[in-house]
Parts: sequence; structure tokens; C-alpha cells
Amino acid sequence: MSDRRYLVKEMFGPTLQGEGAHAGRAVVFLRFAACNLACTGCDTDFSPEGARRFSADEIVARLRELDTGHAWRVIVTGGEPTLQWDEPLSAAIRGVGFRVHMESNGTRPLAGPVDWLTISPKPQHHPASIVLADGLPANELKVVVDDTVDEAVLDRYAAQYPCEHYFLQPWMDDRYAATLAKTIALVHARPQWRLSLQTHKIIGVP
Ligand code: SF4
Repeated sequence: MSDRRYLVKEMFGPTLQGEGAHAGRAVVFLRFAACNLACTGCDTDFSPEGARRFSADEIVARLRELDTGHAWRVIVTGGEPTLQWDEPLSAAIRGVGFRVHMESNGTRPLAGPVDWLTISPKPQHHPASIVLADGLPANELKVVVDDTVDEAVLDRYAAQYPCEHYFLQPWMDDRYAATLAKTIALVHARPQWRLSLQTHKIIGVP
């Protein structure tokens, strides 16, 4: 039994997964504090302010409490969840029956198993010292579309991460209409990619 205490920004639910292949599913969320990137336009609060430390058992207990509909599915995110994810926490959460869906920026190896891995690469925001990790067991790739993303970029990602689901998602900022149009054009140019919208923002759930 590990005595590690994980820095957690928030746990909440029940809610719906908003993005990607599992959009619309009932889930609970485990959001870790801290990220190894500082992407321009990041709209996620992963700062240590207000975060608290929990043991693996305390995290499991809270997730079970939140999962009132017994959906047994947890989205593990951040920040960057691989900074803290490890074997003992994976075993504790999956051991009680949760399916773990992780959303990572793809720059770090996975230190414990998950049931579904979403990679959302953002190399345009990396310092040169950080590179995308090879060999990650991705189930889906989710590329947030901005000025730097074009067909050649998509082809490089698809070659680096062979997986079942490829999604393009427009940033929902003040240029959303133009970015959405660009995203749709990219889907037509590369039909193996599908449009993903941040439906949780559209329907107003956390
Ligand atoms: S990797 Fe994700 S959470 Fe981290 S700064 Fe970039 S957009 Fe935000």
C-alpha cells in the first residue's frame, strides 16, 4: 500500500464527458493539479491554489461517492495527469471497478495502466526541451485546431499515433466561428478525422 498523497485540484460529478469518442457518457472527473506545459489560451484551472492532497484510498472513496448513477467511469485529467499517475493509484481506482479514461498532452510516459488514453498534443506550445513521447498506447487523438494546425500536421500526428479515433476540435475562443470553419474544412480534406465539439460548454455542464 502506497502512502503517497496526490495533489488534486478537484473531483466532481456526476457529469457528462464532453469531448471525443465518449462524448455524452455519464462520468465523474478526477482533475490533478499541475501541468508541464503553459499553452497559450489554456482554459483549465490546474493551479495549486485550492488543490488538496489525498491518498489513493481517499480518492477512490470520493469518486465512489460522486458516482451516484454507478456509471463506473472516471475521466482523469489535469493539468497533466501523467505527472502524478502511478501503479498504486491505477490499481486502487480500477480495482473497485472504475474504467479510467485519461487525457494527456502526450509528452510523458504512462506510469500505470488506464482503460482509455486520449492524447491531445500541443507541440506548438512546448519548449524545445519537451518532445512528444513515442509508443503511447493511444485510443484516440484529439487535436485542438489553431493557426498552426494544417493537413501536414495532421498527417504527422496520424503517423506518430496509430489509433482508432482521430478528432479535430476548434478552440472555443473569440475566433471560434473562423476556427470552426477551418476545422470543418480539415475534416473534408482528411476524412479519417472527425469533428469534436466541447459539448459540455454548449449544454452548460462542468
Ligand atoms: S497541456 Fe492542457 S492543461 Fe496543460 S497548459 Fe496545455 S492546454 Fe492547459
